[in-house]
Formats: sequence, structure tokens, C-alpha cells
Amino acid sequence: MFGRSARRSDNSKLYEVLGVPKNSSPDDIKKAYRKAAIKNHPDKGGDPEKFKELAHAYEVLSDPEKREIYNQYGEDALKEGMGGGSSGHSPFDIFESFFGGAFGGAFGGGGSFRGNRKKQGEDVVHTLRVSLEELYNGTTKKLSLSRNILCIKCKGKGSKSGASGRCYGCQGTGMRVTTRQIAPGMIQQMQHVCSECRGSGEHISEQDRCPQCKGNKITPEKKVLEVNVEKGMLHGQKIVFNAEADEAPDTITGNVIFVLQQKNHSKFRRKSDDLYVEHNLSLAEALCGFQFVLTHLDGRQLLIKSHPGEVIKPDQYKAINDEGMPQYERPFIKGRLYVHFNVEFPESGSLSPEKCRALEAILPPRPGKCSSDMELDKCEETTMHDVNIEEEMRRKEQQRRRQEAYDTDDNDEPNMPRVGCNQQ
Ligand SMILES: [Zn+2]
Ligand SMILES: [Zn+2]
Repeated sequence: MFGRSARRSDNSKLYEVLGVPKNSSPDDIKKAYRKAAIKNHPDKGGDPEKFKELAHAYEVLSDPEKREIYNQYGEDALKEGMGGGSSGHSPFDIFESFFGGAFGGAFGGGGSFRGNRKKQGEDVVHTLRVSLEELYNGTTKKLSLSRNILCIKCKGKGSKSGASGRCYGCQGTGMRVTTRQIAPGMIQQMQHVCSECRGSGEHISEQDRCPQCKGNKITPEKKVLEVNVEKGMLHGQKIVFNAEADEAPDTITGNVIFVLQQKNHSKFRRKSDDLYVEHNLSLAEALCGFQFVLTHLDGRQLLIKSHPGEVIKPDQYKAINDEGMPQYERPFIKGRLYVHFNVEFPESGSLSPEKCRALEAILPPRPGKCSSDMELDKCEETTMHDVNIEEEMRRKEQQRRRQEAYDTDDNDEPNMPRVGCNQQ
């Protein structure tokens, strides 16, 4: 066993660090640590090294078992693992389990030391549906959200006095270990969240509990956020409100994020900064000219007309500069407005032979090559029927895939469809 030589090298240093005599009571040690730790906290400009020393001294001397080992054998005994030795707790953990996070608000708040140690709260993401008009013109939306905030009355401490002690149930660790015998000589250890403090590690006495939050440290709040949807913002663009998500003790408050979702528009389609609009022309308009009025997203009336003598062909596009969407953050620059033309032809059978003759007289002549009766006699007759070409293509594609599945069937690939396999 350890301690043969009963080294008594150094068993007073930790008392000196805390500035207490060797025979001081646990209470004296507590008080000494409290005073020194607050004074030397790095967030308050204290020396981090000193703060670390204090935490270590307190960790050892506040634990009766460790203190005993230290008194008898000195620091080295702890380092060599007797009685669990150094726990590896950071000085901040020790400080916090002592003060129960009561200084979470008062200290730091993004300070370099504590900033890294706080938990990161979760972001809250909302979808915000906006119309194309709203994205074109810009808008402000007021949204009422409910969230938790640190109790204002107790500043998130949960107690009237601001003080909180270590939970007796778990010694401030928030976890408890229970052992039970599962068989003779076999003991099972189980760790679970302390039921007394619900894992917070602190104890707030009944009388000291904050009446506002009942010791929960947080209270619900309703808040109205003004979301500024700026001109030209895009579908999927995020609008971030920093630190407006739920607040919690020792937690960096997450952000509230609105993700814009552009609603479909009955008339306009948008592709980045450009707008597309469909317009149907009658055959007469396509051949002889047209004009129409288009109400834009800001309510302006645009007069759109063909040039004299211009013929519009089916599926043709034309563009109007600077009538697309405004650019985000540069709204004076706008994209293009594309007009896609459909030409509505007369239905089959709607043109009488007379009308056809009249049209033929007006329209450019037929191609001159007219085959003679002799030549036609040599030809074979054919019949044309209507097809839905898209459906036709889909069917052919399916056929091709099925054929492929057949061809690779030899490989016995499990996820290939085995069409026509009748072995089951
Ligand atoms: Zn409170
Ligand atoms: Zn507890």
C-alpha cells in the first residue's frame, strides 16, 4: 500500500492558498473559497492561475476523504490516485457547482473565459411565407412569438436572495449514483439525474424561492418581432434575429431564424432576378399585331405591344429590361421581364373551304413543288393519328428500363426488379 514512507512533504500549501489554518472547519473553508474565488475570477480581471489554484484547493479540502489523504500524505498522494485523486474538474465547474451558476448573469456574458463554457442554445427556425408582391415591394411583418426568458425578478437565479447552495442529494453534480446488489458479490452501479435538483446541482430553499418563476429561473414571454422583408430577397433566404430564442441559465441564447418561402404567383414566375409571364395570342394577333396591359407587382400598368409588322411565333420569348425583380440590397437594379407567347390556332374544322381560299390568297403561297398525279400514283398511302408525345416517351423509357432489368438479371442483384420471375 501507499504511505509506507509516510511522506509528509507538502500538506499545508492548499491551506495557504485558501488562507485558512489547518484545523479550520468545512464552513471556514467554504467561506474562504467563496471570498477568494469571486475576487480572483478571470471574468472580473482576476489571475486565471490563482483562480485555478483556489478551485483545486477547495476541491480537495471540501471533500473529507480527500482532505484526510492530503493531511496525511500530501499532494502527491492525491496525484497518485488515492481517493480518486484529481477529478479533472475545470476550475469553472468547481466555481459553478459552488455558486450554482448564480453568477451566470453577472459574470462574463460572452467573456472570453465563460463564453466557451456556456452551452449553446438551440436556434428556432420558422418558415415565413411571402408573396411575390411582398418580395418585389418589400414589407415588414410583425410576428408574435412566445419564448422563455431568464426570470427578470431574480435575474435567472431562481432565489430571492440570489444565493443557492449545493444540492444535498448530489453534492452539486446533478447526477446521483445508486448501487444495488444484483447477485451475491455483484453490485450494479447506476447513474441518474438527481431528482432533488432535477440535474441543476443546486438547492434553493423553499422560503428563498423566487415567487415569480417559482425557482425555475425562467419565465414565459410574448414578444413581437418585426421582420423586415427587403426588396429582392430570395426564396430560402434567412432573416436572423440574434439571441431571440429561448433563454436558459448558463446558455448562449440561440437565434430566431426566419426562412423565406415564396408563394406561387398566379401570373408571374420568378427565376432569381427575372420574371416570366405567359401570354396567349390569337393567331390574328400573332400575325397582325397586338397590345395588352399587364399589371405589375407594384400595381403599375404596363402597356405591352408588338412593333408594326411584327409576327410572333408560337413559343417565342420577348424581354423587357428593368421590369424584373429588384436585386437584394441594390433594389434600383432590376432584372428582366420575359414574356412567353403562346399562339392559339383555330380548332380543326373551324375554317370553311371558303375561308381557307381567302386565307390562301392573303398568306404567303404554298411551296411551289407540286407533285404530278403520275408521281403520286407510285406512293403508298399513310394514315396519321394524334399522339401525346410526352406519354409516348414515358412509355418507351419504361420499356427500356424493363429490358435493362432483364439483361442484368444474371448478376442477381437484389434490388433489381425481377420482372416475369415466377419462381415464388
Ligand atoms: Zn425568478
Ligand atoms: Zn441534486
